Amino acid sequence: MKKLIAGNWKMNGSFGANTSLLDEILASIRQNKPNCDIAVCVPFAYFFQTQDYQDRSRDESGQPQLWLGAQDISQHTSGAYTGEVSGSMLKEFGVRYAIVGHSERRRYHGETDQVVSLKAKAALAAGITPIVCVGETLDEHEAGQTEAVVKRQLAAVIHDNGHCISEIVLAYEPVWAIGTGKTATPEQAQAVHAVLRAQLTAASSAAKQRVRILYGGSMNAANAAQLLAQPDIDGGLIGGASLKAADFLQIVAAASHRPA
Ligand code: PEP
Repeated sequence: MKKLIAGNWKMNGSFGANTSLLDEILASIRQNKPNCDIAVCVPFAYFFQTQDYQDRSRDESGQPQLWLGAQDISQHTSGAYTGEVSGSMLKEFGVRYAIVGHSERRRYHGETDQVVSLKAKAALAAGITPIVCVGETLDEHEAGQTEAVVKRQLAAVIHDNGHCISEIVLAYEPVWAIGTGKTATPEQAQAVHAVLRAQLTAASSAAKQRVRILYGGSMNAANAAQLLAQPDIDGGLIGGASLKAADFLQIVAAASHRPA
């Protein structure tokens, strides 16, 4: 299955900085034609700007080669939900992916497993692929609870989404590895990915072949190739390194087995 490299800009960017970053990414995509899917999940404020790059990235068949992604989506369709952005609004910008359940949303915005699963459902209903994040905290990791935690988080999403589960992208993001410079070893990540793949397969046989399981947590230009070589690591969700074109493009190259 084709790997997916998705950048998560978090709350970073400016019109000027985005232009430099996206110009470089687009130029490299046109020149190198990477053999992987690429997305940037940008703040809502930069959708209009990034949508233009998505449009300009289309290949001869009209398919964008740089996809626009959101970092969140409302579980609701419309109404009195101040500050929220619905799936149909995202769709108007041509959004392809929406991150749901990022650990920063779970931690700072109190998103529960239930809310995350409803957000995944809202994305699927709008024709947007949710990138569902799961991952254990440092305390949970040290207490040997990794498997139990990620299985519980994924079970909630499977419960609410039934057979549509084969349409999601899953991201294993150990919380202790996000933005810390500490990466799970390829073996550690592979072991968790294999557990998640088995859980998905038990829920839907289609999910085994279809669902991409990304690794996220301090993936960078130096460690990407080893992580992406693991049999159950189907791509990366990239925070810090997605803000530097050269680093992001090296990860893209590692995912497509071609030089940047
Ligand atoms: C993330 O925010 O999803 C992430 C993986 O961040 P970083 O790559 O900076 O650890």
